Amino acid sequence: MTLRLMLRSSQLKSELFTTTRQSFKNIDLQHFRIRSTVSSEKKLTATSPDREHQNDTKTPNKTDSGNIYWKQVEGKPRTNTPFVKNLFLGKFEKELLVYPELKDNHQLEELNHMVQTIEKFFADVDSAAIDKESNIPKEVLQKLKELGLFGQQIPIEYGGLGLNATQYARLAEVTSVDSSIAVTLAAHQAIGLKGILIAGNEEQKQSYLPKLASGEHVAAFCLTEPSSGSDVASIQTKATLSPDGQTYHLTGTKIWISNGGIADVFTVFAKTEVEVDGEKQDRITSFIVERGFGGVTSGNPEDKLGIRGSNTCEVHFDNTPVPIENVLGTAGDGFKIAMNILNSGRFSMGSAGAGNIKKLIGMTAEHAVTRSQFGHKLSEFGLIQREHVQEHILCA
Ligand SMILES: Cc1cc2nc3c(=O)[nH]c(=O)nc-3n(C[C@H](O)[C@H](O)[C@H](O)COP(=O)(O)OP(=O)(O)OC[C@H]3O[C@@H](n4cnc5c(N)ncnc54)[C@H](O)[C@@H]3O)c2cc1C
Repeated sequence: MTLRLMLRSSQLKSELFTTTRQSFKNIDLQHFRIRSTVSSEKKLTATSPDREHQNDTKTPNKTDSGNIYWKQVEGKPRTNTPFVKNLFLGKFEKELLVYPELKDNHQLEELNHMVQTIEKFFADVDSAAIDKESNIPKEVLQKLKELGLFGQQIPIEYGGLGLNATQYARLAEVTSVDSSIAVTLAAHQAIGLKGILIAGNEEQKQSYLPKLASGEHVAAFCLTEPSSGSDVASIQTKATLSPDGQTYHLTGTKIWISNGGIADVFTVFAKTEVEVDGEKQDRITSFIVERGFGGVTSGNPEDKLGIRGSNTCEVHFDNTPVPIENVLGTAGDGFKIAMNILNSGRFSMGSAGAGNIKKLIGMTAEHAVTRSQFGHKLSEFGLIQREHVQEHILCA
């Protein structure tokens, strides 16, 4: 029965893909007026509005992947090939994605072994109790740390597992079977400590990463404020440099901070005064802040749905002294750093979401092939088969 359902699934899937490809072709013609869809660059004739706009440039350049791009767009050199245009030509530039393939079979074997071990551990995790009691038991956290799951993408030389994006995404699929654990792990490494990985200097990495990798220290990411969510540039938290130029004093309130009540190390974003072209301006700067610096307090945990075991709360900084050595990157560059970290966070949530959906598909499939109504298994009803295929496609 399951096999039948699967066969029907793949049949419907292929029908759907054909329709989708057809629609892509239509868009292709309307938008880009490409006279031929053959991938050879010589046959790329009439072009996108982009190209028309660049008639004055006239010098096509070749990228490593052999695609044409145009050197000048409104006076700026282009750094990327036209990704979307290439999609329409049937070229998918994988190098643009932070999703490297595994190098060899050995890496794959290692990954599979990790997955098996972690799956075995998660089979015994009582997610219902975690959610009901709004708490991840200490022994569960301890085991996660022992498995190295607090330092998945931290390089080996700093005590982490040194996983690449593919490996990390694969493990996130497994660890996401408990959403509270998934959020706790992601808040720690996909955003909490990510700034140190992306923008930290060697000294900062050596000083913070080993304890974060082992889970001895937990990290949190502090950007959101009562009046600042999507509009990151509007944050109010301020950091003022002391007259001797050695210490910033940080004051402000952050809200909805995952791991905010349990973290030892925070990546905090605050406005600082910086000089731009001889003019003083308020710009966002990012800091590594230790709870131990003083003046750091956390509010009560927020109640949530489905991720109650993860800790989300307000974090207050009251004149917290932060040594200038703890500025991440350059003063004033915090906005860029925040955006880069958030990109990583989205990647992490995406892979965890895929894991969640896969698990749900498994559960619904099992239900569909075991439950009968009107004398038939649910899996025999056309609508159920269609929904199942759609779930697969969304997850793929
Ligand atoms: C469980 C949980 C954990 C969190 N953990 C953290 C954390 O660890 N660290 C942290 O810093 N923050 C955290 N956050 C905060 C989260 O990142 C913010 O919720 C997010 O930045 C969005 O801000 P907001 O909720 O204030 O929405 P708003 O910015 O008020 O937006 C409200 C709605 O308007 C839409 N909107 C906003 N601007 C536009 C626009 N220009 N065009 C169209 N639509 C728009 C948004 O998409 C959204 O749907 C957490 C939130 C939750 C719920």
